[in-house]
Amino acid sequence: MGPAEGPGTGRADGGARDGEDPFLAQRLAMVRELRASGIRDPDVLAAFARVPRERFVPADLVTHAYDDSALGIGHGQTISQPYIVARMTELLELPAVRQRDPSRDPRALDVGTGSGYQAAILAAMGALVVSIERDPDLSALATARLIEVGFGDRVRCVVGDGSAGWVEGAPYDAIVVGAAAPRVPEPLAAQLAEGARLVIPVGPRDYQSLHVVSRQGTRLEERVFDACVFVPLIGRHGFPE
Ligand code: SAH
Repeated sequence: MGPAEGPGTGRADGGARDGEDPFLAQRLAMVRELRASGIRDPDVLAAFARVPRERFVPADLVTHAYDDSALGIGHGQTISQPYIVARMTELLELPAVRQRDPSRDPRALDVGTGSGYQAAILAAMGALVVSIERDPDLSALATARLIEVGFGDRVRCVVGDGSAGWVEGAPYDAIVVGAAAPRVPEPLAAQLAEGARLVIPVGPRDYQSLHVVSRQGTRLEERVFDACVFVPLIGRHGFPE
C-alpha cells in the first residue's frame, strides 16, 4: 500500500487547473456539515479546512475521503468519521489551554495513530503531538504521510501500547484516544497536566460513549458525552487481544 495521491492528481472534477486543490470544495463542504452538526470551535473548524483528509485514506478510497463515515485503512483498522474526530477534538478544549499559557504550544498525546489524521488535526491546531500506535506498519505509513503533508516537525510517531500512555512526553495538556477501552486507563489520567483533558470512548466492545476526564489538582472529574462505536484499544489497560 502506497501513500494516498497528492493534490493535483486524481482529478475527479476533470476541470481543476494546475495549482488548484481539487479537494478544496469537498473539504469546505465537510466543514459546513460539521458546523451544521454542532461543531462550534473556530480553531477546530479551521484545522478541518486545512488538513487534506484525502491524503490519509488509501488511494482507492480517495473519492470517499470526504464522506461523513469511517473508512478502512488496512490492517483491520479505520480512519474515524469526520464528525467524531471533530467532536473529540472540540472536547479537548485546546484553545483554553493556549489561553491559560500563551507562551508555549500545547502538548498532546494521540493514542491509536491509525492513518495519522487525528494527529494532523491536533498539529494544525498548533499542538505538539506524540502519536502512539501498536501496529508498526500503520505507524510507519502515518509517519511518512505526516511528513509529506508538512506536519513532520509537530508530530512524533512512536510504537507501543498506548493504553499505558507515553510517560516520556508527560504531562500532556490533552490526550485523545481513537480506540475504545472498557474503562478509563489509569495511566492516561495520571499523565494529564493541571487543567488538561482526556477524551476517550468507554464501554463494551460493540458500543461506547465519549468520556471526558479533566484534572484539577489531585481531583479528576469524569463526564459522559455522545454515543459512539470504535475499534477496541488492545493492551494492558484496554481489551485483551
Ligand atoms: N486516530 C486514528 C484512528 C484510530 S483507529 C485516525 O485518525 O486515523 C484505532 C487505532 O488504534 C488502530 O490503528 C489500532 O491499531 C490502534 N490501537 C489499538 N490499540 C492500541 C494500543 N493499545 N496502543 C496504541 N494503538 C492502539
